[in-house]
Amino acid sequence: MSYFRPEITAMQGYVPGEQPRRDDIIKLNTNENPYPSTPAVQRAIGMAIKAGLQRYPDPMADSFRNRAAEVLGVEPNWILCGNGSDDILTIVTRAFVGAGECLRLPYPSYILYKTLAQLQGAEAQEIRFQPDWSLSDDFSKARSGLKLAFLPNPNSPSGTVIPIDQVRKLATDLPCPLLVDEAYADFADSNCVALVKENDKVMVSRSFSKSYALAGLRFGFIVAQPHIIEQLVKVKDSYNCDALSIAGATAAIDDQEWLAANRAKILATREKLTLGMRELGFASVDSQANFVWNPHPEVPVRPLYLRLKDEGVLVRYMDYPGWGDGLRISVGTDEQIETCLSLLRGMI
Ligand SMILES: *Cc1c(COP(=O)(O)O)cnc(C)c1O
Repeated sequence: MSYFRPEITAMQGYVPGEQPRRDDIIKLNTNENPYPSTPAVQRAIGMAIKAGLQRYPDPMADSFRNRAAEVLGVEPNWILCGNGSDDILTIVTRAFVGAGECLRLPYPSYILYKTLAQLQGAEAQEIRFQPDWSLSDDFSKARSGLKLAFLPNPNSPSGTVIPIDQVRKLATDLPCPLLVDEAYADFADSNCVALVKENDKVMVSRSFSKSYALAGLRFGFIVAQPHIIEQLVKVKDSYNCDALSIAGATAAIDDQEWLAANRAKILATREKLTLGMRELGFASVDSQANFVWNPHPEVPVRPLYLRLKDEGVLVRYMDYPGWGDGLRISVGTDEQIETCLSLLRGMI
């Protein structure tokens, strides 16, 4: 059948990381939080259910926006909510990039960006990271048709961060808006929210899937200047966030104490994971996210991924053409990471 737009039949489609339904495996492949969210989330969702679901949800999720605005130090009309931050990335791409135009992204980074460009019939222009995961000025060079740039910061799979001063300069030099994807920023030393106030070309997206331990809830948001939000609202689905996710996310962002305690645990385990992998000869990259990227200069890593999987430990094997492969391992509990490390010690 050939009624589809040619872009659709030509594209591969984004393939999410494996989501096995067994609960006896140690899942370290998609950067979920190993700990349950603050119990306030369950209570808030329970109350929302009791109140009934017969009415449409608040299209702008104002209860969440009001609370998030206080936490971030902006006004509520600087925030737009989404059904996961993937929804936000979709809205932004649809708003700025048309067919035949160009979306810029660094390489290697989040694979979904390319899929979003393909859906628009647009070109995804990849700018390679330097071998040390820094970004050259090529990232901000003008070119015809360039309409939007994505910068995951911290990046995946590396966990590395482009410092705020360089992001400021990139944004100033770029001839188009820059979306800084801060899905992992709660685990980092810094973030770019301040740049949104300085420059209306900068937008920042956040996710509840990683640092708030709510990947199953599907909630994310973007911070941008109000006149940008006003245009993005036209692109989103009218009710893109359901009543339960709005209630849950509002309770989650209200508990900043939980966030700080969880962050401290993840950072401590991240350190153990990084050192443990280096002892095994991996060239593990210093991470500011809740995962660590581990290439190995001598040992082929794909067989290690397969053997770990046989043993019930699922990590992410990534092979980036022209760059190289490695194991991206999410920071689990201390116990999960120790199990993973001791299995690897038996293999290498
Ligand atoms: C996980 C992730 C997201 C998506 O988060 P959701 O809120 O679950 O949609 C976005 N960007 C990057 C870089 C991610 O790793």
